[in-house]
Amino acid sequence: LHEHTTFAGLETYAIQPTSNFTMVGERTNVTGSAVFRRLIEGNDFEGGLAVALQQVRAGANIIDVNMDEGMLDSVNCMTRFLNLIATEPEIACVPIMIDSSDWDVIEAGVKCVQGKPIINSISLKEGVEDFISKARFIKQHGAATVIMAFDEKGQAESIERKVEICQRSYTLLVDEVGFDPMDIIFDPNILAVGTGIPEHDDFAINFIEATKMIKQTCPGARISGGVSNLSFSFRGNHAVREAMHSAFLYHAIAAGMDMGIVNAGQIVVYEEIPDDLLERVEDVLFNRKESATERLIEFAESFKGRGESEEKTVEWREGNCAERLKYALINGINDFIEDDVEEARGMFQTPLDVIEGPLMDGMEVVGDLFGEGKMFLPQVVKSARTMKKAVTYLDPYMETEVEGGATRGTVVLATVKGDVHDIGKNIVGVVLGCNNYNIIDLGVMVSCETILEAAERHEADMIGLSGLITPSLKEMAYVAREMENRGMDLPLLIGGATTSRQHTAVKIAPEYGHQVVHIKDASRVSKAVGELMDPVRRSDFVERNLSEQELIREKFTDVNRRPMRPLTEVRDKGAIIEWENTDDILEPPFLGPKILQEISLDEIREFIDWTFFFTSWDIPRRYPDVLNDETYGKAAQELFKDAQILLDQIIKKKRFVVNAVYGFWASNSEGDDIILYDNNRQKELIRLNMLRQQQDRGESAYRCLSDFIAPSGNSDYIGLFAVTAGIGADEMGEEFNSNGDDYNAIMVQLLADRIAEACAEWLHAKVRREWGFPDAEGTTFDDILKETYRSIRPAYGYPACPDHTELRKVFELLDAERIGMGLTEHCAIHPTASVSGLYFGHPTAQYFSIGKIDREQVEDYAKRKGIEVKEAENHLYMNLGYFPTDE
Ligand code: SAH
Repeated sequence: LHEHTTFAGLETYAIQPTSNFTMVGERTNVTGSAVFRRLIEGNDFEGGLAVALQQVRAGANIIDVNMDEGMLDSVNCMTRFLNLIATEPEIACVPIMIDSSDWDVIEAGVKCVQGKPIINSISLKEGVEDFISKARFIKQHGAATVIMAFDEKGQAESIERKVEICQRSYTLLVDEVGFDPMDIIFDPNILAVGTGIPEHDDFAINFIEATKMIKQTCPGARISGGVSNLSFSFRGNHAVREAMHSAFLYHAIAAGMDMGIVNAGQIVVYEEIPDDLLERVEDVLFNRKESATERLIEFAESFKGRGESEEKTVEWREGNCAERLKYALINGINDFIEDDVEEARGMFQTPLDVIEGPLMDGMEVVGDLFGEGKMFLPQVVKSARTMKKAVTYLDPYMETEVEGGATRGTVVLATVKGDVHDIGKNIVGVVLGCNNYNIIDLGVMVSCETILEAAERHEADMIGLSGLITPSLKEMAYVAREMENRGMDLPLLIGGATTSRQHTAVKIAPEYGHQVVHIKDASRVSKAVGELMDPVRRSDFVERNLSEQELIREKFTDVNRRPMRPLTEVRDKGAIIEWENTDDILEPPFLGPKILQEISLDEIREFIDWTFFFTSWDIPRRYPDVLNDETYGKAAQELFKDAQILLDQIIKKKRFVVNAVYGFWASNSEGDDIILYDNNRQKELIRLNMLRQQQDRGESAYRCLSDFIAPSGNSDYIGLFAVTAGIGADEMGEEFNSNGDDYNAIMVQLLADRIAEACAEWLHAKVRREWGFPDAEGTTFDDILKETYRSIRPAYGYPACPDHTELRKVFELLDAERIGMGLTEHCAIHPTASVSGLYFGHPTAQYFSIGKIDREQVEDYAKRKGIEVKEAENHLYMNLGYFPTDE
């Protein structure tokens, strides 16, 4: 026995003991693919080659070629096609499966192929003699062969017949012909189930059971099968067919199936089949229920055309090709896009014409509807996904043509150094991408140098910067300054949650002598970029932008002149708390940090604030009202449904790991500092330096977070926490990304963020219970979201405690690294989907905003923190109520 089965094209392909599953691409088959048949009938063999290439690129390890069609000269077609393949190295690399029921075609095919092919197929149908002579021929030519489970009596349907025929064939091949068992591939017939004929109900089980027995009794032999046949009676319903194939393969592979003839690229992941669909599919495959087929058919209706009624599906399918493409793009329907694009390809001279013609026309409608507020961000991202699929399909045909010549311009995007937040940037990339811009996305934590070099190298038309944490604002200004120093002149776009028109005008634009444009949200980016790229409209846009920024700068100087009270005065006027009231200080349940690992996602799910989910998709309405909103309702419902499906998967497959660490420490305030002690209050562990409001507040208190912690002489406490939901999220997002599914990739990121926030909310509720002030009876989740409860959990980077670098102390004390969390050089938390902050238990503790502070407070702060004033100014960049001297 050889150790493993090998086939070869230009390269050798081996099935080894560790191999999982070998995919044989089925699309180059005139009986199985209408598209391929039309190409061959139309004498477009080059087009046929592209189909083969598509299968290889989609992951086919072998390709099956079949030319058995009554109207074709099959011998000729096989010869011509295989010879053509030999000239295409990317296809010729993989072994060929020569597929025909006509022996002449097989003989012709064998003459053309390089390497070691597979013959598909021989069987005992015509008797032993015929079988042996064909097998000898195959052996002579050094090929492997598929043996169908057929004999003189016909096709094997039962387990017994399948096994018996394969065993008999095996003995003949090995003993009579001297065949290497490793070159024997049995196809025990995958027959259609769900046909309505009761005798067919066991066909899937029969295949699987026979596979086990054949593998046991015919050592070395492989098992294969044509998978699409299984779902023949569900034609026209892609979602159900794909689910059936994938579920079947899952079980058949476990039983020992080695390879299968499949539509490469269309195998869905078993775990990702929706539960309800999977249950009905497996009921059919395993003949588990009386009316399994009826139930699947009924259910299948709801899956047609992605949840549309059959009638509606049929209706839009009746339009002409351009209309269908437009409909698919606007509605983000992937199901028929390849067939439609193929049809369009026949109507246009080049694939590029298809892209620039009907596809761009469709996307233009999407862009217009989006611009008019009739389509919303999630729908646009879905459309972009369909567009991507269409372009990917055309890709192999485009090889020899001009590349990238069709784009409207190149935009370099990056999340700046020290920051890891990139959802907004990713969305902007998708939106611009589907408006036909070439996007160079440099990812996260990108240094200024890298960004500018990339812009120069790619001759970019624009740079877009993104960031969330406040230090990134400073970094963006630095990039602007460097662009000036390099003498660049391309526009700079600024976006991200903490960026603003004001900040852009005041702090970034003055650094750079050319356009700096703040992009409020993704829905505005294509308009802004479009106007900047348009030689006619550009000057108008520039003028508007400049005068608006000038106006903001004037206003900023005004705000600046508002009185700032001296530091000594505001310190005297802090929030006053009567510390004698002992009820207000409660002893925490434990001291020091405590880890919670792999927190139940089911429990956390209940704490998700969905309103923020919709906001992230630029849908500015409250949940649940948003679902019935006149304007956004339809988009919101669809989005919500997609999110739930994904969340179900995430939870079922435990794709996100949610970890937390929290704890309590003995604590006192000292001026504007908060000291955390060891358990005996002997040793100072860390000292959190806080800031105090300084802008004129009339009679109101000038607050500082340290006001909410008692000064020495009282045994007060403070809590710290850090939670993350990001472990596993990045990989999952990447999986979607690499499949061209930006929509779900973005969705994964957003859900991870939501779960992190939900975990923070969940943990805070737990802390209130443990700390002795549980929420009042009857408190609803709505109340919780309104923060009606006692205590606060301020987070660094927010207005009451803007200096991110203090997080280093918090992380050190919590030892947050133990649960997989860390800080970047600018103190952004990674993984991105994380939250960290402080717990203040006092009933009067509340959130507030520091606002602007003067030089005196910054100098005092620097001294307390033990850093240079310059460095403190950098950390407090957004709070400076004055212009630092050296700027
Ligand atoms: N439910 C929301 C989370 C709300 S964000 C979601 O799912 O996204 C609210 C949190 O922001 C607060 O709990 C607190 O941690 C922080 N926060 C809000 N205002 C703050 C302020 N002024 N100072 C410090 N932290 C603040």
